[in-house]
Amino acid sequence: MKNTDKNIIVYNDAENTKEKNIFIHFKNLRIRLTIGLLFVFIAPYFFLSIYFHIQFSKSFINTGKINLEALTKSKMNTIELFLQERVVNLFRLFYSGKCNTPPATNSLGYYLDNLRRINDSFIDIGFLTEEGIQKEYVGPYSDLQNKDYSKEKWFNALITSEKNYYVSDIYLGFRNKPHFTIAVKQDINGKAYIIRSTLDPDKFYVYLRTISKGKSVEAVIINNAGIYQVVDPNAGSLLEKSDYIPPKNNIIGTDLIKIDKEDYFISYSKLSEVPWTLVLKQPLAKVYRQMYGTRNIIICISLLLITTISIVIWFAVKKLMERAYKNAKKSGELWEQLRHASKLASLGTLSTGIAHEINNPLAIIVATSGVIKDMLNPEFKMDASPQKMLEELQVIDNAALRAKGITGQLLDYGRKSKPSVKLTNINKLLEETVSGLKERELKIENIELKKEFDKNLPYIEVDPDQIRQVFLNFINNAEQAIESPGSITITTEHDDKAVRITVMDTGAGMTREQINNIFEPFFTTKEVGKGTGLGLSVSQNIVKSMGGEITVQSISGRGSSFTVTLPISTTEEGDNHGS
Ligand code: ADP
Repeated sequence: MKNTDKNIIVYNDAENTKEKNIFIHFKNLRIRLTIGLLFVFIAPYFFLSIYFHIQFSKSFINTGKINLEALTKSKMNTIELFLQERVVNLFRLFYSGKCNTPPATNSLGYYLDNLRRINDSFIDIGFLTEEGIQKEYVGPYSDLQNKDYSKEKWFNALITSEKNYYVSDIYLGFRNKPHFTIAVKQDINGKAYIIRSTLDPDKFYVYLRTISKGKSVEAVIINNAGIYQVVDPNAGSLLEKSDYIPPKNNIIGTDLIKIDKEDYFISYSKLSEVPWTLVLKQPLAKVYRQMYGTRNIIICISLLLITTISIVIWFAVKKLMERAYKNAKKSGELWEQLRHASKLASLGTLSTGIAHEINNPLAIIVATSGVIKDMLNPEFKMDASPQKMLEELQVIDNAALRAKGITGQLLDYGRKSKPSVKLTNINKLLEETVSGLKERELKIENIELKKEFDKNLPYIEVDPDQIRQVFLNFINNAEQAIESPGSITITTEHDDKAVRITVMDTGAGMTREQINNIFEPFFTTKEVGKGTGLGLSVSQNIVKSMGGEITVQSISGRGSSFTVTLPISTTEEGDNHGS
């Protein structure tokens, strides 16, 4: 019951529970359906996205590696070409026609100007004899004139080499400043003469940077020992050892390394003219930048799609469930109407007895009022004392009350009651169902009613009105099946789990075919006006709704028995026993 300020809203708990149960059922169904549909639609999409992402990353890394390797190779070729060009520049001096042995300092100055015009990394130029003495020198370090280079590494390498040129590593030399040497030798009149020039690694770096402009890569050149020959000032200093040393046996390749928790692609390529290796380094994040952009767009589109699908599923399921809920409620209402119709139909079978039952008290009333009239007629000289009069009026009263009782019983039964589940004593309920009208009616028809009740029958949770309808229907059917004399036996019994109520008759019984159809709505073997075919189908629905079942046994020509098994609610056991 619900109580608000002034308006008292009364509602039936059971009806509300039933509606609440339907509501909860549909709510659960809606959640399950929504989750199921979301899973079916979104899970494959989700896993597919992850799969594509992994494949995409893989191919992106491969492409990144290939691109960087190709870039390294092309740069390596450019550097190689640069060095070859510088060697050729120096060689050309031997053939310039102005090359005397040794050339005069003023002509060397002219050569240096020419070289610088071609490339500004040339620092100086010198002319050396095969003994290693720098006979002539032009450049910023004038004290190098007449220096003895016979012990210098580059000089010895050039003199002993079969090749007539040599490109040295970066070294400090006499000037104590990083530089590298390109030296060429020429045999003139049986004597070897050497022209050497030194080059500025910083200028070389500027050149290197120009060719790798805009590629977001860091380029360095290291020698075989891993010492920087050309380096970005941010990455390290000249003649420092590089952190990364490429594998010795590979000419070209790419590695994926981690420096300070950041991943880098490192691609290397060894130069053929000089024992140098060009190393390019590219942060993976840079390679991925484009991919991250694409991935973010895909994630946004995916999220949008998933949200749209979710919203559509949510609303579609909501609409569907609302409609199903409405239909379930409507079918519940229909079922209630059907149950009431069946109830009224079984009430109809009572009507024959009713006329007789009401006629009796009416006859008594008519007769007694006749007696009173006679008492009041002086001709008959009857005792009309108030005492006598009261006695007669009491007879009328009793008869009227009896008639009222009968109509009351009928009205009670026919009333459209609302479902209400309560702990019920089935023995008592059966007693009430058959007592009064029914018992007398059976007696008139010469049908004996036997009751074999289990005295310890536990109370069970049922809707008493509905279950009474089931039993009355069984009894009516039994009564109609019996050609008097006969008997109807009502038995109750129980075990740990259930209560069983059997209505057995000695009537006509049923054939197998009949038994197969009796629970079908509108199946009847009775003549029009006597049967509707609703009783058993409605009874079965009622019993099923209470978690029970109906079993039938019948022998054609001998009789039938209908057993209702109803579960004992586990929470309400104990001393709830009927008598
Ligand atoms: P109705 O009684 O209106 O025909 P029911 O659904 O109650 O509808 O019964 C269906 C049919 O089942 C009856 O017409 C009858 O053929 C058969 N039936 C039911 N109970 C019995 C019984 N006790 N003995 C024989 N037949 C029965």
